[in-house]
Amino acid sequence: MMHHVRPSGAEPFQPNRHLEISPEFLRSAIERIRANGYEIISIDEAVDLLKSGYGHRRYAVLTFDDGYKDNLEIAYPILKELNAPFTVFVASGLVDRTSELWWVALERIIAENEEVVITQGSGVDGLSCRTTAEKNACFEKLLDHLTLEVGEKDQRLVVRALAERYGVDMEALADELVMTWDQVRTLSADPLVTIGAHTHDHFAMARLDAEDARTDVLTGLRRLEEETGRRPKHFAYPYGKPYAVERRDADIVREIGFASSVTTLPGVLQSVNARDPMMLPRVSLNGRFQDPAVIDQYLTGAPFALYRVARWAATGFGVRSGVSRFFPSTR
Ligand SMILES: [Zn+2]
Repeated sequence: MMHHVRPSGAEPFQPNRHLEISPEFLRSAIERIRANGYEIISIDEAVDLLKSGYGHRRYAVLTFDDGYKDNLEIAYPILKELNAPFTVFVASGLVDRTSELWWVALERIIAENEEVVITQGSGVDGLSCRTTAEKNACFEKLLDHLTLEVGEKDQRLVVRALAERYGVDMEALADELVMTWDQVRTLSADPLVTIGAHTHDHFAMARLDAEDARTDVLTGLRRLEEETGRRPKHFAYPYGKPYAVERRDADIVREIGFASSVTTLPGVLQSVNARDPMMLPRVSLNGRFQDPAVIDQYLTGAPFALYRVARWAATGFGVRSGVSRFFPSTR
């Protein structure tokens, strides 16, 4: 799983840093994957292989979430040159410019201000964010507020109000970072590329009622089909972590007819995943650890077994898991 591919910035405050890798790291990751004996194949082929139980081939699937412009402008030429198939899971509301890249808006607001005031009574009004440490703490606090304390639809209202107050243009932000429909069509026309669905408004499905969750998936599917002429067969849950996805959501996407759905639960594919391709794990190429040696470790699957144990232990002792630094929440 990847998000942005672009040259690294030098600013000390980069709370979304784990969501971007450099073009050089993308190239070396592909080289490492292949050097370890893994073929890079399309998600269609991978799901077929998984279901057929043919376990002798070692394979990897490259996916990019959300539909960022740099996927086309920076990653695509590299992937094309290396002949590596890949999938882009597009959130159609971002391409329509009606939805919110709220985590980027939050980053920009905090980066440019020394204090952030949310609505009165939210418990997080008047946060000081002068130093990098304060800015990071402020981002974490607002992230918790927006993903745990307020509902998904209120989250967008809060962010829109903040954007208004601090002069961030949400539509311009999507224009700057997310592909246009013409650009999505350019990728869609290449047999090397699979366009997958990622809902319309990028809500955490588990935090919506079943009807709203289903509507968000169906709207995303319809918009992609209208704009590209193809109905996506594969789906990625927004955020993809336990707070954002539950069994019910797997049932929703299964009923809609997707061939597979991917989460952000860290892990490599195992035979057990063949039984339920609606909750596939992924390996996030974390922008904070752009060392080709980590690719070799990921491919062994060992770090994810460790993650599961650490997460289980943290839950058991009621403490925040120390592994969150290595497996932070993604969007
Ligand atoms: Zn996403």
